[in-house]
Amino acid sequence: MDRVYNFAPGPATMPEEALQTAAREMLNYNGTGMSVMEMSHRSKPYQEIFDRTVALVRELMGVPEDYEVLLLQGGATGQFAAVPMNLLREGGSADYIDSGNFAHGALVEAKKYGDIRCVASSREENYRFIPKWSVADFNPDADYFYITTNNTIYGTRYSSLPETGRVPLVADMSSNILSEVYDVRRFGVIYAGAQKNIGPAGVTLVIVRKDLLGHARPFCPKVLDWTVMAEKGSMLNTPPTYAIYMCGLCLDWLKKQGGAAAIEKVNIEKANLLYDLLDESAFYRPTAEPASRSRMNVTFTTPDPDTDAAFVKEAATRGLANLKGHRLVGGIRASIYNAMPIEGVRALVNFMKDFETEHK
Ligand SMILES: *Cc1c(COP(=O)(O)O)cnc(C)c1O
Repeated sequence: MDRVYNFAPGPATMPEEALQTAAREMLNYNGTGMSVMEMSHRSKPYQEIFDRTVALVRELMGVPEDYEVLLLQGGATGQFAAVPMNLLREGGSADYIDSGNFAHGALVEAKKYGDIRCVASSREENYRFIPKWSVADFNPDADYFYITTNNTIYGTRYSSLPETGRVPLVADMSSNILSEVYDVRRFGVIYAGAQKNIGPAGVTLVIVRKDLLGHARPFCPKVLDWTVMAEKGSMLNTPPTYAIYMCGLCLDWLKKQGGAAAIEKVNIEKANLLYDLLDESAFYRPTAEPASRSRMNVTFTTPDPDTDAAFVKEAATRGLANLKGHRLVGGIRASIYNAMPIEGVRALVNFMKDFETEHK
């Protein structure tokens, strides 16, 4: 069977080249006579794979020397807890912006550990936009300030970042990391589950400014303690060895595309193909407000839920898979991460035009 264009929100499509390299190296990696999956994480060939992957993250994101790059487990959801356990001081507090379901989940989780304030929310408006914030509402003594740069379920993205002064900005970048250029220096901590824009599920990337280390609360499990993990080179225990190797192959591909700056241009072009069609059409309705639109997750509806379902089903017969919207919002969602080629988006646009003609 031919490969489909996979618009899944995560785990998501990966570069074919990375998959082919993995297939070629499956039984015998680089003359070792074994699969990467079968290697000790303490072996020399594996340490090289690991170091190469971290170096690619550093290079592609322009991570400065005074930041650690950690490859952990537990997903982005694990970091919902790790963030407060590593950053909240005894009796401290943190500010959160509630811009979507994952942001909300992070906020609820953090409340277990301290005084967490929500300084802006669009929850009441079904997260159709990034909530407006006012710097005057920020606590200048907060231990950190938390945002979710791209809201995967609702299809929204911050087009500018809050100015938090000396308060470290912490970002869940799970669904748009490496899809655009970010200045790492704007952040105290960036983290992301790998399964949207980096590689397969099982790896969680954490980038943390070194001066923020050393403050984990005594009850923080050591696998979530960034300081311990930094000291141990992310290998306190067995890391997700094969998933990290796959991330490296995907990052090799991204580097060949020209890195984040080059892929950002393509991503804007891909997203515009869809938004232009949505804006011109009287049949489709985009769900996110224009100023908050995501370049990674494009959310929309047809005139009614039955037609949405028919859309998803018919699209699948044309090799356009996984377009169903998240169960919380319904409708349709096209996730077009880095590895989705522009040809896939063009195929979707053509299908959308045909579908509209047939159903309007
Ligand atoms: C997918 C996603 C998560 C959840 O990631 P897990 O790795 O499944 O825990 C959290 N935040 C954002 C923004 C996401 O897109």
